[in-house]
Amino acid sequence: MPAPAAASHELLRAPLFHTPANPFHDPRALVCHEDGALLIRNGAIAASGDFSTVRAAHPDVPVTDWRNGFVLPGFVDTHVHFPQLRILGGLGRTLLDWLEHVALPEEARMADVAYATGTAQRFVRALASHGTTTALVFGSHFSPATAALFDAADAAGLRVISGLVVSDRYLRPELHQSPEDAHRDSTELVRRYHRRGRLLYAVTPRFALSASEPMLEMCGALLAEHEGLRVQTHINESRVEIAEVPTLFPWAADYLAVYERFGLTGSRTVLAHDVFPTDSELARLAADDTSIAHCPSSNAALGNGIFPLRRHVDAGVRVAVGTDVGGGTGFGMLKEGLQAHLMQRIAEPAGLNLDPARLCYLVTRAGAEAVGLGDEIGDFSPGKAADLVYVRPPSGSPLAEVLSRSQSMVESLAAIFTLAGPESVREVRVAGDVVHSA
Ligand SMILES: [Zn+2]
Repeated sequence: MPAPAAASHELLRAPLFHTPANPFHDPRALVCHEDGALLIRNGAIAASGDFSTVRAAHPDVPVTDWRNGFVLPGFVDTHVHFPQLRILGGLGRTLLDWLEHVALPEEARMADVAYATGTAQRFVRALASHGTTTALVFGSHFSPATAALFDAADAAGLRVISGLVVSDRYLRPELHQSPEDAHRDSTELVRRYHRRGRLLYAVTPRFALSASEPMLEMCGALLAEHEGLRVQTHINESRVEIAEVPTLFPWAADYLAVYERFGLTGSRTVLAHDVFPTDSELARLAADDTSIAHCPSSNAALGNGIFPLRRHVDAGVRVAVGTDVGGGTGFGMLKEGLQAHLMQRIAEPAGLNLDPARLCYLVTRAGAEAVGLGDEIGDFSPGKAADLVYVRPPSGSPLAEVLSRSQSMVESLAAIFTLAGPESVREVRVAGDVVHSA
């Protein structure tokens, strides 16, 4: 964990955005303060609002002046694979072809602990430098590599929820493990890392195709044996993948039924993709409070399809956003929000309009809720942890020019989603601690 910020008591003065409510249901959910303030005390938000109001109540607290930029809550990436950092950009393949020829050979290299440790350190730095303060991360198929990720996240001070990826068929022999060995290794990792600092453990079967029934049973057993674990896996990502499910699980009515049978759905579960859900699956996801990680760049890059966001929202399913590195195109959650917006623009039938309020919610609070941290992070309500991103574009950049003539905070937020890359992320904090500074 990094050293705490020097001032345990600080008033940040900056234009602020956050979504303490859900803008899919509440048109006033986006809160903007053009001359805003965050009072941070011992890593937590003690007050937020207009500078004049907060200042009047706290006249003696030292002020940090960030009026030349914008402050947003830290981004929450709900689906990202740490072993896939170095294979970003494998364009032009379908999911199963990409897995076999691009992703899995690199996943196999994680057997080399030194290689995995270097990857983990760069991966965690990439998260922080893009403004991601919390991530639900697919670990490795190898226990030492997964431990390396937890250690790197702990040292950097990020909130990382991850776990050993378990599979016993369909991939490559060196990525397969027996359910017994997977149980032993997972248990050891849970004991070492779950609830250590800002870390949490997630039970992580790769996907239904690569997990036998005894392996999925083992996953359910882990959940029963330990308090507070999360679950992450994939669902309904490509049509070819979905077509294989009935062969492997002839008793299952649909893809979701496989995970339901083994107790792997519910409020602690995040399923990535869900590009092709049935109406019944959507109704059951909503009833169970299972979350979906929407990964629009990956869905487009692998040619899978356009995410039916409107059907999810209408059914009442929780949706957040994930970058899906390396099937996706990078670590930027702002860019991922833009990609979600673009794909909804061309969705048939008509997609949902992802205005700046909804984009802000999707990359912050929605993610916090999906990973079960909605009471602790995701917006600037008093009592929450001071997880934040300070965005200030380089002078002379297109974003700086656009912002200089922006007529409103909402216009500025749309410009930030459209144009801000990591060069505009100047400082990132988790619970008040600086985890990235440029
Ligand atoms: Zn994935």
